[in-house]
Amino acid sequence: MQRDILIVGCGIFGAAIAWALGRRGLGHRVLLVDRQPPASGATSRAAGLVTQVRSDPALQALAGETLAAIEVLKTEFGEDVGCHRVGALHVGPLAQEAALAQMLAACTAAGIRGQWQDKTQVQAQSPWLNPEAFDVAAFFPDECFVDPYLLSSAYLRGARQMGVKLQLNTRVVHIAHHSGAVTGVALEDGTLLPARFVVNAAGAWSNLLSVELGLPLPMAPVRSQYWITERAPEFLSSGPIVFMTDIRAYARPEVGALLFGARESEPAVADPRALPENLQGFVFDAADPDGWGNLAQTFEPLSRYFPAIERLGIAHYITGPSNYTPDGQPIVGASGAITGLMVATGCNGSGITYSAGVGRLIAELICGESSFVDASRLDPARALQIDPFAPAFLQACAHARATKSTG
Ligand SMILES: Cc1cc2nc3c(=O)[nH]c(=O)nc-3n(C[C@H](O)[C@H](O)[C@H](O)COP(=O)(O)OP(=O)(O)OC[C@H]3O[C@@H](n4cnc5c(N)ncnc54)[C@H](O)[C@@H]3O)c2cc1C
Repeated sequence: MQRDILIVGCGIFGAAIAWALGRRGLGHRVLLVDRQPPASGATSRAAGLVTQVRSDPALQALAGETLAAIEVLKTEFGEDVGCHRVGALHVGPLAQEAALAQMLAACTAAGIRGQWQDKTQVQAQSPWLNPEAFDVAAFFPDECFVDPYLLSSAYLRGARQMGVKLQLNTRVVHIAHHSGAVTGVALEDGTLLPARFVVNAAGAWSNLLSVELGLPLPMAPVRSQYWITERAPEFLSSGPIVFMTDIRAYARPEVGALLFGARESEPAVADPRALPENLQGFVFDAADPDGWGNLAQTFEPLSRYFPAIERLGIAHYITGPSNYTPDGQPIVGASGAITGLMVATGCNGSGITYSAGVGRLIAELICGESSFVDASRLDPARALQIDPFAPAFLQACAHARATKSTG
């Protein structure tokens, strides 16, 4: 049978969608294409946090799917995705107590475990954290981090076992449509790969295929980044992920070192038309290529929580594009105007977390099933009036990252 479901982009979204379709017995109908090696875009650069503790129930449900998928990949497919179920600790000043209490109540109502912790308990788990820096702490034991490359590869391997075909070195130049319905994708040599469904999962490049269809996607690639310290004795035992809620910073253990990130007040943002196809060596901000300027901005509040940062060396700096939307919602669903056209992008720094949920949503749409979450706020056509390349719009997306809460 002809492969009539075509997915553009083999990052974690494309791979998770292919996997979800495979699980529904549709693998033999799916062709997944990419111009680069699998997971070589944003996916392999992620810090790998998979966090279900969120205030928005739909986003919480997307994350829950990924936690469930990690189990299925392990038990049914024998995949080790480097999952560390270390839990997550949310710490902050007294002013954050009400927000944390609300989060705990919402999580309890949704069946997600969480409880207050005192400073002795926190110290035992995270000896690097200065107990003077925070007043309140809540611990959520089921949060985890994974190796994002391994998780993406596991979806992909599973999808291929279930009949999905992967075609690399394939650059899509247009999504083709006729009489209001998708007909396939055009490649640069003029070939048309026919399809009844096309899923635009092209990550930071999605708008380059979408705008010409009259479907501007309300997102822009904003610089995301984190640092990994050199190894030190205080990081030898594996502790939880820590969210420092008032300063919008997080940290997690990383093989005897600490991986940490902090949201800058003015993140760098790129015009997607200027992003190279291969991100290796891409610099968001020539004036601050290694993010030192951003680190300097957050250094004082960070060193309050994490005093050892003042003496430890930085061993690694990782950066890449994350697609932020002004409303903080991902972009997942059918295009509406063109039958058969689907979009899965706009991850807001949480694409690893949402991956299996996004896969399930798109698979449900293709199968004509009702969605397992209320996806109305994820609608790709929710901002048709915007120009996603306009400088003011790019800044609005950067602002969304700067002000995003940790939950
Ligand atoms: C530094 C950093 C840290 C992060 N940390 C986390 C985290 O801790 N937890 C979390 O949940 N998320 C995190 N994220 C976000 C996460 O990495 C992304 O949300 C996720 O990887 C997005 O996946 P994707 O499949 O949409 O995009 P990508 O992985 O970028 O994949 C898109 C693919 O589309 C292909 N493509 C594009 N255009 C075309 C075309 N025309 N033809 C053919 N192929 C095309 C590209 O080659 C690419 O392979 C982080 C991101 C960064 C940068």
